[in-house]
Amino acid sequence: MNKRDFLKYSSTVFGGVLLGGSLGSCAGRSQKVSSKNGGSGKMTLRFQPYTLQLKHAFTLATSSRTTTPVVLTEIEYEGLTGFGEASMPPYLGESHESVTKFLSGVDLSQFADPFLIEDILDYIDNLMPGNYAAKASVDIALHDLTGKLSGQPCYKLFGLNPANTPLTSFTIGLDVPDVIRQKVEEAEPYKILKVKLGRDNDREMIEIIRSMTDKPLCADVNQGWKDKNHALEMAHWLKEKGIIFLEQPMPKEMIDELAWLAGNSPIPVIGDEAIQNSGDIVKYRDVYSGINIKLMKCGGLNAARKMFDMARAFGMKTMIGCMTETSCAVTAAAQLSPLTDWCDLDGNLLISNDVFDGVKVIDGKITLPDRPGIGVEKII
Ligand code: MG
Repeated sequence: MNKRDFLKYSSTVFGGVLLGGSLGSCAGRSQKVSSKNGGSGKMTLRFQPYTLQLKHAFTLATSSRTTTPVVLTEIEYEGLTGFGEASMPPYLGESHESVTKFLSGVDLSQFADPFLIEDILDYIDNLMPGNYAAKASVDIALHDLTGKLSGQPCYKLFGLNPANTPLTSFTIGLDVPDVIRQKVEEAEPYKILKVKLGRDNDREMIEIIRSMTDKPLCADVNQGWKDKNHALEMAHWLKEKGIIFLEQPMPKEMIDELAWLAGNSPIPVIGDEAIQNSGDIVKYRDVYSGINIKLMKCGGLNAARKMFDMARAFGMKTMIGCMTETSCAVTAAAQLSPLTDWCDLDGNLLISNDVFDGVKVIDGKITLPDRPGIGVEKII
């Protein structure tokens, strides 16, 4: 979004109320909070709405869109700045308005030490229920800041080996055959493809892709199938076609049917929309074979790290995913990727107006930047 578009957008969203300050070169308006004590030794949170433009319309079983609203955050402390981001796909119910409202109520000036991450995130979590993307935007900025203060990348502070990062899948959304073919060609650098299913041409989609490549595929139905017998029949067919797992095949409310499917399916059944946070792992540990962990669902790196531990304790497979996000939130999630069985961190590759340089995919593999914090640098 250029500055003119952003100002036009802002006057729509905020009713023309001018918010003070600025956030780097990303244009326009931001709001400074928790600055009453300002200066050295106090944290200052800034934030700014931004709209991601998608390279292709992003079509799932239940919706289609060409943009995603995000809010970019910064926490400044003693001359260093930690970057964060909230991304708000429609199904989570958050928006520019809800995130800016939430962040307007955050007062970090009461904390003298940014390393008190548990205390600070407890405070954030107790401000309001829900609002997980807004909470993640503070969590990510805080981890970036403390990494920079330590002079170490976050993965190192988590004790993780950057050589153990996984291959990432690249998503092929629902589309007409010609566009599917084009997307498969664009996905040439990636070793695993994730195919969105859930409409009446699922087999055709897979056949088209299989006519072009023998790469491993995974399938994400985004709750699109409503009949458990159809889902099981498809699971068997998909296994024959080289699909390695099946993500959220039916609506999350169909708990008994999903448990039956996971118990009978020849490939693992992964919960995504059904599994938001640690509490859901406990609730659905006997329903799904594994979980898709996303920072925007659970509230950030701190919560995601705990979800990995919990899922492993229950013997569940783990996957780390993302929304359409800038390289900020995707690179943050990538810091945890050495922990995961499967990885789907391509949200930054699906947009045309990224704000950051960060994680790279080299030979299909997640490659972490060797920089302190989450390791991103602003590019616009
Ligand atoms: Mg999914």
